[in-house]
Amino acid sequence: MDEPMIVRPEGLYCPAGGFFIDPRGRVDKALVTHAHSDHARPGHGNYLVSESCLPLLKLRLGQEIRAEGIAYGKVCKIGDAHVSFHPAGHILGSSQIRVEVGGRVWVVSGDYKPQPDQSCEAFELVKCDVFVSECTFGLPVYRWQEEEIIHQQINAWWQENVEAGRPSMLFAYSLGKAQRVLRGLDSSIGPIFAHGAVHPFLPVYEKCGVQFPRVQKPKEGSGEWAGSMIVAPPAVEDAGWTRRFKGASRGFASGWMAVRGARRRRNLDRGFVLSDHADWSGLLEVIKGTGAECIKLIHGNGEPLARYLQECGVDASMLDGSGERTGEE
Ligand SMILES: [Zn+2]
Ligand SMILES: [Zn+2]
Repeated sequence: MDEPMIVRPEGLYCPAGGFFIDPRGRVDKALVTHAHSDHARPGHGNYLVSESCLPLLKLRLGQEIRAEGIAYGKVCKIGDAHVSFHPAGHILGSSQIRVEVGGRVWVVSGDYKPQPDQSCEAFELVKCDVFVSECTFGLPVYRWQEEEIIHQQINAWWQENVEAGRPSMLFAYSLGKAQRVLRGLDSSIGPIFAHGAVHPFLPVYEKCGVQFPRVQKPKEGSGEWAGSMIVAPPAVEDAGWTRRFKGASRGFASGWMAVRGARRRRNLDRGFVLSDHADWSGLLEVIKGTGAECIKLIHGNGEPLARYLQECGVDASMLDGSGERTGEE
């Protein structure tokens, strides 16, 4: 039987609809799961994304791109394919894309997380025949705690730093993680600042109902930072920008902080295990829940997960040509 989706050099392609999902290169029609740079690339002719992803995509790729937003759950016909977007629970506006051709259903997950996250739409389980699943954290050592526990850990660390008279510098990716971290900060502890890369996304989140404490832009040279919380992307970790926050305790919020030695290698005082991806049990729960007869793994080292699923009698394999990952979390 002809499958709804096939692998082309640019990425996953739907012959019946003439579109790609999260493609590389330059294609005419790109359906994009979310606004992270390893999924939303510049240079395509037309973009289709979820409604709440649209303003984020334009902030990332430019207001002049040709892009359309579609409501979650709404089915649209592209050629002979029926297509709908469903919340992936990864960051605001992130989608799983359901593609049905001739009664056969594929769901392409993008990045996803079934655990609750107050900064984005809740993950929706979508039944399908073939599930294309990311597997960034596809090892049993990855197990996340509830986000409220991590927010408490971050606030407790901040409070300790206030008492010691030093600033708190928390690294978090500028889109998604930074907003999630900011939402959980207790503004009664002290003033909150964020790097300029974080600010443009805040109004988009607020429009979707995510509430933040007051977040300021740090002004050049203005000097007293003791007791402040400063949220910044990891890209400026070693840059001059961070130097003005003298004596700051340095933390990082990421799923990678669960890896032994990751904190020490990066010269951080604290690592907070907060991920926007599914952990091991989240992956298994979703994969089972889709009812899919066939699982194709992308974005990560999926061999251990594929082997585990095969031992459980599931038809699972890595999707060809999709091993590389240079993403944001
Ligand atoms: Zn992502
Ligand atoms: Zn990704």
